[in-house]
Amino acid sequence: MKALQYREVGGRPEYVDVPTPVPGPGQVLLRVAAAGACHSDEFIMGAPEGAFALPLILGHEVAGTVEALGEGTEGATVGDSYLVYGPWGCGHCYACSQGNENNCEKGINAPGIHHDGGMAEYMIVDDVRHLVPLGDLDPVKSASLTDAALTPYHAIKQSVAKLVPGTTAVVIGAGGLGHVAIQILKAMTSAQIIVLDLSESKRAQALTIGADHALASDDSAIEIIKGLTGGRGADVIFDFVGINPTLAMAAKIVAIAGEIAIVGVGGGALSAGYLTLPFDVSARVVNWGTRSELLEVVELARAGAIHIETERFALADGNKAYEALHNGTLAGRAVMVP
Ligand code: NAD
Ligand code: ZN
Repeated sequence: MKALQYREVGGRPEYVDVPTPVPGPGQVLLRVAAAGACHSDEFIMGAPEGAFALPLILGHEVAGTVEALGEGTEGATVGDSYLVYGPWGCGHCYACSQGNENNCEKGINAPGIHHDGGMAEYMIVDDVRHLVPLGDLDPVKSASLTDAALTPYHAIKQSVAKLVPGTTAVVIGAGGLGHVAIQILKAMTSAQIIVLDLSESKRAQALTIGADHALASDDSAIEIIKGLTGGRGADVIFDFVGINPTLAMAAKIVAIAGEIAIVGVGGGALSAGYLTLPFDVSARVVNWGTRSELLEVVELARAGAIHIETERFALADGNKAYEALHNGTLAGRAVMVP
């Protein structure tokens, strides 16, 4: 089969022929309909030797139809359309027992990150519990629900009780994840939504999908946000960049008793201490979302409350998709179609 494989550190993904995998007992062979390109793939391709096992078929946002079932596999139907829930946990630890496979105590084992993913004609899904029925939703427009929507959903759901009328949510970075975060905030809260992005086109897009204000991401935003919040600052900040400057910005704009959710893997750190942050501020680090939350995200999409702005690329043109992602010229998410 054809696949987009990241082969050596520092290289670009290559369009190659690899053997079609065979599903083992309990597994599922999925015929891939679409796989999204995430900024985290850039993180993988920027990581040092040994950080990820290579060669690796990329793609952790996947939709497809079941092609074949391994021996003894039950609970999925050949020919039906599914999303792949990506953060595969061990299924047995305390976090997994609570349904929080994304926080598996043994670490997640995700397709397209830790082993072969969905940028190929076929992929193996280890267990039917990692399939979520897609029904008649378009797989190309839905593949990225599994991360670009699920991750901000998980981040926002934990703050919904805080985002009552009169409050303010700030989204830093309105790209693949951030443009969905705006829509989720709009659908689930009545907070004022302020977006910070470096890119003028991302700011313009943010205003068309529900943001109340979109500001350049520099220190000039601090006073503007104070002005837009009656001097209080933002109740919840969702940082989809996660570098030192954006986290420092979050610390400067957060309200008393506010929250900072760190989603971007930019490698920055937030400092917390007496008089470093306003009183009663809390921060959390977010990794993906739970399986039940993916069901909820699919319902939001089915209801038309959220949609992924999708740019479609042939799998053979995968490098063009990553180039566009890298250059910030995508309006939303790049999706590869085998
Ligand atoms: P993206 O490239 O599609 O979007 C990033 C956006 O941030 C762009 O619009 C860009 O213009 C903007 N930006 C860059 N620097 C900025 C700055 N200093 N201030 C404001 N905006 C800035 O990326 P994405 O796929 O949406 O991913 C966003 C981040 O989330 C990445 O770091 C990615 O690795 C991470 N991620 C984390 C998880 C998780 O579970 N924690 C899951 C998926 C992605
Ligand atoms: Zn991702």
